[in-house]
Amino acid sequence: MNPLLAHDPLRSPVRIDADRLWARLDDLAQIGAVDGVGGARGNCRLALTDADREGRDLVVGWMRDLGLEVIVDVIGNVFATLPGTDPTAPAVMIGSHIDTVRTGGRFDGNLGVLAGLEIIEALIDSGYRTEHPITVAFFTDEEGSRFAPDMLGSLVYVGGMAVERALDICAVDDGARLGDELARIGYAGSAPCPAPAPPKCFLELHIEQGPILEDAGITIGVVEGVQGISWTEFTLTGRSAHAGTTPIAARRDPLLVAAQVVAEVRMLCRDLGGSQVATVGRFEPHPNLVNVVASQVIFTVDLRNTDDLVLIEAERRLLEFVEQVAQAESVSVQTRVLSRFAPVDFDHGLAELIERCARSEGASSLRLPSGAGHDAQMLARICPSAMVFVPSVGGLSHNLAEYTDPGDVAVGAQVLADAVLASAVLLSGERVNRSTDSR
Ligand SMILES: [Zn+2]
Repeated sequence: MNPLLAHDPLRSPVRIDADRLWARLDDLAQIGAVDGVGGARGNCRLALTDADREGRDLVVGWMRDLGLEVIVDVIGNVFATLPGTDPTAPAVMIGSHIDTVRTGGRFDGNLGVLAGLEIIEALIDSGYRTEHPITVAFFTDEEGSRFAPDMLGSLVYVGGMAVERALDICAVDDGARLGDELARIGYAGSAPCPAPAPPKCFLELHIEQGPILEDAGITIGVVEGVQGISWTEFTLTGRSAHAGTTPIAARRDPLLVAAQVVAEVRMLCRDLGGSQVATVGRFEPHPNLVNVVASQVIFTVDLRNTDDLVLIEAERRLLEFVEQVAQAESVSVQTRVLSRFAPVDFDHGLAELIERCARSEGASSLRLPSGAGHDAQMLARICPSAMVFVPSVGGLSHNLAEYTDPGDVAVGAQVLADAVLASAVLLSGERVNRSTDSR
């Protein structure tokens, strides 16, 4: 037995190459690069755009370079697999996403996918084998910026939405149909979705996207679950009127109603307390002119809570308030649910495993919930799933200045590797000389 294995069964003898991982993060970040203020450099690779295709092509090229079997399913999710010694064993899956928001960072999603690729490459280089296959995956349209809802590819993968319905979703920006865009960029695959058989388990490394780890001086976040998410789009319709000649009493101003809602969602958070957050993120008055009372306002409200009952209460109070203020101004209300996911608890055994792997690597760890939605919460519906967080500098994400320290990236990827290799059952006696293998 390998002395390292004998000494500490969770500190894997397979060591990731942090520089290689960092270089790949850099390479992928060149695609759809966007420069921000103060030298910040982020990314715009909205789902199924040309930039997304370029990013996909680069990552798939790396997968093929490693000799992995690459599969694309009908919703464009991509899976690359290194076989294990047991051909009937289910795969341990590592994954995340490589699409970004319009002003995204270089780590969000990309880190989880490229760390997975690095673990597979390090395993191949080491000559060790695992009993279970290891699959690295990236899922279509995780961000939901172009096609709602978010986490769409993983949602369809777990059977949460019919693929036909998903293919018919139209882009919020240019109205393009998702299925047409998939075909256009060459990623309308043929593998069935939902998956015919679930993986053994799913592990996702991700940046925290918040300030908790950095503030606490902790390197590894062991994610216990994901808070529930509720997105609603409101369309308020009143009557366009002249700003100078229309008496106040005669106005039906949807902008006044919308403004009250913006203020109310903050009050709602104060009232409900706990982990409740609420955000009006999109706000579009029409015709948006200086001397015209608006005819219509479209805006969105994003509500999140780790407790589903409180989240339901927040939704109820919000709707009640909107109806009430709209009625007072004789404005009509139309609502559309863009996304609704209940809170998710991750697998306790896997969380414990990650904690022990962090300890084995001499890294500090902290349990915390995720404030953002992730593909792992979808996979949790079909197999034991868990997440590893690494700190975000300044808590910044969905921001061109998003950054994570290279040292933290290295530790996070190694902790993920240890957890993956323990789950896939690393065989210490099965070391083979890979130099003669065709790669
Ligand atoms: Zn992400």
